Amino acid sequence: MCRQLDRLDHADSAEIKRSQERRLRALVRVAAARSPFYREYFRESGINPRSIRTLDDLPQLPLLTRDHLLERVDEFRVYPRRLMWAARSSGTSGRPISVYRTPGSSVYELCALEQQWGWFGLRPGAHRVMLRGSDFAATEPGQLTKAIPGARQLLVSSFQLIPSNLDAIMADVRAFAPVAIEGWPSSIALLAALLRERDEKLPVKAVITSSETMTAGRIALIEDVFCGPVIDHYGQTERVMMAGTCEHGGFHVFPDYGIVELLPVPHTESRWELVGTPLHNWGFPLFRYRTGDEVGPAPTQPCPCGRSFPLVGRVSGRVEDSFTAADGRPVPLPSTVIDDLSGVREAQIVQLARGRYEVRVAPAAGFDEPEVEETVRRNVDRIFGAGQHVTLRVMPRIPRSDNGKLKSVVVEGDGSS
Ligand SMILES: [Zn+2]
Repeated sequence: MCRQLDRLDHADSAEIKRSQERRLRALVRVAAARSPFYREYFRESGINPRSIRTLDDLPQLPLLTRDHLLERVDEFRVYPRRLMWAARSSGTSGRPISVYRTPGSSVYELCALEQQWGWFGLRPGAHRVMLRGSDFAATEPGQLTKAIPGARQLLVSSFQLIPSNLDAIMADVRAFAPVAIEGWPSSIALLAALLRERDEKLPVKAVITSSETMTAGRIALIEDVFCGPVIDHYGQTERVMMAGTCEHGGFHVFPDYGIVELLPVPHTESRWELVGTPLHNWGFPLFRYRTGDEVGPAPTQPCPCGRSFPLVGRVSGRVEDSFTAADGRPVPLPSTVIDDLSGVREAQIVQLARGRYEVRVAPAAGFDEPEVEETVRRNVDRIFGAGQHVTLRVMPRIPRSDNGKLKSVVVEGDGSS
């Protein structure tokens, strides 16, 4: 897999297109024969799967949305469930979905990321400090960091980044001698802000970020404190496409990972929704999946890196407010609490006041209120730490924000009370 990616890294656009179309044809054949959803689609539409041969033929297949995964997820499977991993997410949209991944596609994901790191001179398996949601913070309270020797990682609890813990955390981090920092931008920025307050730096080769939109201010803070470039990548739980920065700052689509289409956003002149067709997940074929994430115009000049990977505008994806725990700790990326709820059509977590939260859900088929409530409480304990107050509110439809969007995270109180 890594060799294949490496070959396309230097390929011209014609070769990249040939490689995409070869795998597209094979995936359409698999789906037409074995996926109940696509079997039905080809039968009812009268379209011959063999007529889908090139990228130009792709629009013969229907666009998919989160609703398809919400209501018919198992009809997309072509492997038995036991041969795949299930993953869940609510993303920014507050509508939790499930997907399946083959072990091969998970390896592929890592290869694609490692290829990008290579552009910055970062080797696979480089020692990394990881800053994102970490279960150990709840299961081993009092522990601020945890080394994972096999993976050459040092986990730092994202939920313990307060001034009084900084000395202990930094002693572990410096002893670990990281080559890179990786994780949620909001958590990395919290650590960077704590270090800057003390006029301290932690030089590393690069800072690897994903899952949230990077603001210019955050990038400047992170690059200043960690003395290295930010390697940002964009992906989704559905893993239908990937894009990321190169060493010259270009934001490229990774064409070997998936085919990307840009769907014009209605009533705008220069915004497009990203639509992805993954080329690596043979057990769960999806075509033309609408990510719900939007980009602006791509740069018109070619990227100085010389790669034929298409450039896209930056993704305006997840920008989440942090919550504040009962004891005043900042809690980054609070949507992780509602990521794994099942039997709900819509979900949202609201901070009413410091340490007081409300999870709102709109039920879907199979909704089990006591079970959802139990999951919410367990997640809040695990992710935010003990001592928080959370209530579950069931409603037919969660109210939208002013722009009509359902937000997965809302801060209603100011967090100071
Ligand atoms: Zn580039």
